[in-house]
Amino acid sequence: MTFEVNNPATGEFIEKVKTNTEEEIKQAIKNCYEGFKTWSEVNAHDRSNYLSKWSDKIQENKEAIAEVMTKENGKPLRESLGEVDYATSYIDWYAEEAKRIYGRTIPANTTAKRIVVSHQPIGLVAAITPWNFPAAMMTRKAAPALAAGCTFIVKPASETPLTTIKLVELAHEVGIPKDAIQCVNGSGSYVGDLFTNSKYIRKITFTGSTEVGKILMKNSVDSIKHVTMELGGHAPLIIAEDADLDLAVQQTIQTKFRNAGQTCVCANRLIVHENILEEYSEKLKKEVEKLIVGNGLDDATDIGPVINQKSYDKIVDQLNDAVAKGAEVLVGNKNEANLDKESFFIYPTVLKNVNDKMDIMHEETFGPVAPITSFKNLEEAIEIANDTPYGLAAYFFTNDYRTGTYLHDYLEYGVIGWNDGGPSAAHAPFGGMKESGLGREGGIEGIEPYLETKYLSIGNL
Ligand code: NAP
Repeated sequence: MTFEVNNPATGEFIEKVKTNTEEEIKQAIKNCYEGFKTWSEVNAHDRSNYLSKWSDKIQENKEAIAEVMTKENGKPLRESLGEVDYATSYIDWYAEEAKRIYGRTIPANTTAKRIVVSHQPIGLVAAITPWNFPAAMMTRKAAPALAAGCTFIVKPASETPLTTIKLVELAHEVGIPKDAIQCVNGSGSYVGDLFTNSKYIRKITFTGSTEVGKILMKNSVDSIKHVTMELGGHAPLIIAEDADLDLAVQQTIQTKFRNAGQTCVCANRLIVHENILEEYSEKLKKEVEKLIVGNGLDDATDIGPVINQKSYDKIVDQLNDAVAKGAEVLVGNKNEANLDKESFFIYPTVLKNVNDKMDIMHEETFGPVAPITSFKNLEEAIEIANDTPYGLAAYFFTNDYRTGTYLHDYLEYGVIGWNDGGPSAAHAPFGGMKESGLGREGGIEGIEPYLETKYLSIGNL
C-alpha cells in the first residue's frame, strides 16, 4: 500500500510513499534493537565524527532538501533553507555533546569505598514527528539520541515524510549504520501502537498535539518507557506600556506569521497595555498589510498555505466565532468568501476587541491570525497569559527591568522571549510546562533524556 504526498499550495501530487506493513515495522524495530549493541560501542569521538559528516552532507544537499520541504509543507523557500540550517545546528551541537557525557565521583562516608556515577545510552528510541518542521523536529531528537549511543527509529508526519526520508538516506550515505537510524511510514495511530507495544523500544519521543501526546504517554505505561513530549502551545505576547513599539511590532510579525502561524511557539494572544493599544494596533496593521500570500516557491512569498483542510477549517471556525462574538477584523479576512478552499490559503489577519469568551483565546490556532486584547496592570496581564492549560512559550516587550523580572517570574512557561520573538536555539533547552509537555530538547539538557544514570559503589578497599 502507498499514500500520496500533495502540495498544500497547489493541491498537486508530489510523490507516492510506501506504507510499511506491520511485519516491516516490527522487523525495522528489531534491527535497530540489535543495532544498539554495535552503535553503543562506537566510541564517543567516532559518533561525533559521524554526526558531523551527516550535518555536512545535509548542507551539501541544502537546496534540494529545502525545495522538497516547501513542496510538501508549503512554507516559503527561504524559511525552508533556514530550517535546514536550524536542523543541522542540532546535529552540530550534539556532535560536540557526544564527547561531553561526563560522570562524577562522590566522596564516600568511609575510606573503604569509592562511589562512581556514569551515564549509559538508554537503548532504542522511537520518534514521531510533526509536519510543521519536518527537518528540525527530527534532527533535534535523532542527533542527541545518536550522540548518546542510542539507536533511533522515526515515523514522520504523513503530510511531510519526504524530507525525513531524505535525511535518513543521507545519514546512511555517510556511514551511520542502517540499524542505527531508520525511518518507517504509516498512519500515526497504527505506527504509534506498534512503537508503544514493542518491548524493544525503551523511549518514545514525540512532537505534536497534546491530544496525541497523552495517548502515547498512556500507552507507554505498561512497559514504563521513557517519554519526551513536545506538545501544543498557546503563547501570550505581552506588550508593556513602556515597550519599544517598533521592535514589538517587528518581532510580533516574526513570531506570529512565520510558517503561516503554524509553530507551537507562535504568539497566539497579543496582550497589550490599554494606553498603547491604538498605536500598537495601527503599526501592526500597516506591517501585516505588506505580507504577501502565495506559493512558497515564489521568491516574494511571506505566507504560504496552511497544511490541510482540517487546519484550514479550524482557523476559519475560530475567525467566525470571534467575529460573531464582537471581534473587529483590523486587517485580513472579513468572511469565508475571501478564502480559497482549494489550496488552504488563509490571509494574515489581525483581530481587535477580542475577549475571553472567544475560542481563539483558549484554543491553539496554528494559523496566521493574531487576536489583540488589552490589560490595565501587570497582574491582569499575567492572569490572562496564564489562563490556559498550555505552558510552552511566552513573550514580553518592556525596557523596564522591574517589569521584565516580574513577568519572567510569574509566567508559567518553559521558553520566554524578553524583547525577543525568536528564542529557539540548538544550544538552549526548549520545552513546555503544564500540558505543553515533558522534558527538554536542545542545550546540555537535551541529551539527558537519552541517558541512564548508573551508580557504582566499590567496597572493601
Ligand atoms: P498530531 O496530530 O499530533 O500529529 C503529529 C504526529 O503524530 C504525526 O506524525 C502524526 O502522524 C502522529 N500521530 C497522529 N495520531 C497519532 C496517534 N494516535 N498515535 C501516535 N501518533 C499519532 O499534530 P499535528 O496536527 O500534526 O501538529 C500540530 C500540533 O503539534 C500542534 O498542536 C502543535 O502545537 C504541536 N507541535 C508542538 C511542537 C513542540 O515542539 N512542542 C512542535 C511542533 C508542533 P500522521 O501524520 O500519520 O497522522
